[in-house]
Amino acid sequence: MKQSPILSSAALLIFAFGSVASGQEDMSKPVITKEIKKENGKDVPYMYIDGIKVHEADQSKQPLPPLVVPGSEPGAPPSDAVVLFDGTEKSFKENWTNTKGEESKWNVVDGALESVRRAGYIQSKAEFGSCQLHIEWASPVDVQGSGQGRGNSGVFLMGQYEVQVLDSYENETYADGQASALYGRSTPLVNASRKPGEWQTYDIIFRRPQFNDEGKVTKRATFTVLHNGVLVQNHVVLSGGTGWDGPHSATEYKAHADKGPIAMQDHGNPVRFRNIWVRELKD
Ligand code: MG
Repeated sequence: MKQSPILSSAALLIFAFGSVASGQEDMSKPVITKEIKKENGKDVPYMYIDGIKVHEADQSKQPLPPLVVPGSEPGAPPSDAVVLFDGTEKSFKENWTNTKGEESKWNVVDGALESVRRAGYIQSKAEFGSCQLHIEWASPVDVQGSGQGRGNSGVFLMGQYEVQVLDSYENETYADGQASALYGRSTPLVNASRKPGEWQTYDIIFRRPQFNDEGKVTKRATFTVLHNGVLVQNHVVLSGGTGWDGPHSATEYKAHADKGPIAMQDHGNPVRFRNIWVRELKD
């Protein structure tokens, strides 16, 4: 049966509404309860968050956070980080392969990992789900090409969700494909790019997506990203995959394992990476 244009746009609206609703946070959590206790003849309000009293000093009920020794300087790995690349050939060989699990043909140059044209992506041997990732990168100082062709690479969480790496310094491209975009899905809040050849940082807080037994996404991934210390993705709920699905379409979510590698893209440009470390996070 042929639908009238009005009916189909109404159907579309309902669909859009449904997907927004499923991305909303659960306002029933945490569970907050309150009571008034009489103390020294006075009414004292008590509040409990998920059953734990506010300012609970009993560590058997509210343990103190574990100690972490922060890095010796800003950007250096803290004591509980998994260091994936420390600038040495040894750490490259120990921690990275190509996507077939074989030795990668990327180079270690001046303490940095450099992408090699046609060598393919590299990926970490270790796999992660939700995590905090610190990675530094530099686009080639020898500026070549324009748009997506200039200093293109990418940092992938779980081997597939891409935070775009691109020389976006005085180099325009579509907004959802510039540096620090969640490729094809979310434009950065600002362009905080440094000049070609200068070292730049990404600090990424990622929560993995979750799927049910039928392979349907039940919890979408979220990204918070700082580019050179500037907030560019603010707890963004990723609406689907970031894979290429033609010039104006991105891939959808497809169920996968709870953990996957950190990966970087060979897009034909000699982009460099250094100081790569990860901290695993609870879902
Ligand atoms: Mg890319």
